Amino acid sequence: MDTGKQQILSLLQQVADPEVPVLSVIDLGIVRDIKLFTTPLGEEGIEVFITPTYSGCPAMDVISMEIKMLLLEYGFKKVIVTNILSPAWTTDWMSEAGKEKLKAFGIAPPHPMRSVCDTELFAKEEAIQCPHCQGYNTRLISQFGSTACKALYQCNDCQEPFDYFKCH
Ligand SMILES: [Zn+2]
Repeated sequence: MDTGKQQILSLLQQVADPEVPVLSVIDLGIVRDIKLFTTPLGEEGIEVFITPTYSGCPAMDVISMEIKMLLLEYGFKKVIVTNILSPAWTTDWMSEAGKEKLKAFGIAPPHPMRSVCDTELFAKEEAIQCPHCQGYNTRLISQFGSTACKALYQCNDCQEPFDYFKCH
C-alpha cells in the first residue's frame, strides 16, 4: 500500500460527526495530524491525532471508533487514534465548506466575526443569524440545544427554532 497523507485525509471525509452528520471530521478541523509507521512485524500502521471539539462530548468516542474502523477496513494493520488536548479546538478550525453545510442543515454556524470564544462573549447573546430566513433578529432559548455542543435559538422573524453550534 502506498498511501499519502492527502489520500488519508480525503478518506476521512467519510467520518461524520454523529451529532451533525453533514459535517465530516475534516470539515470540523479536528484531525490535526497523521503519521504513517511500520510495526515491528513490518506491517503498515497509522496514527491519527485528533483534538476534541468539546471535552465532555460523547461524540468523540464514536468518532475515534469510526476512524479506527475505516482505516482498518482500508488495509492498515494497526490504527491508533490519539487525542491532542492542547491547543484546544476552536470553531475557527472549521472549514468554510463545513460552515456552509451547517447552515444548509439548519444549524447556525459559529459566528464568523468572532476570533476568540469565551463564555462571557456568549452570554452577551451576540446576534446569531437565523439559518432559515438569514435574519439576525434571534434570541437564545436555551444554552443547551439537542446536544450539549449546541444552543437552542429561536428566530423572532420567522419563529423557527434552530440549533447554534456553540463556540468553546
Ligand atoms: Zn428566521
